[in-house]
Amino acid sequence: MQIRLEEKFKGKGIRKCRMCGNVRGLIRSHRLYICRKCFRESAKGMGFKKYG
Ligand SMILES: [Zn+2]
Repeated sequence: MQIRLEEKFKGKGIRKCRMCGNVRGLIRSHRLYICRKCFRESAKGMGFKKYG
C-alpha cells in the first residue's frame, strides 16, 4: 500500500539525485533522493556530522 502510494508520488521517476542528477550511489533511505556525493556536501549544511 505504502509502496504504491510512493510510486504514484514519484510519477516522473525521481530515481536519481535531485541535486546533480546522478543515479549511482543514490541514497533514498532518508527520503533525500540524492547521491552519496551530494549527501556528503549537503550533510555539512544540514547538520549531519556522521561523516568524518
Ligand atoms: Zn548528486
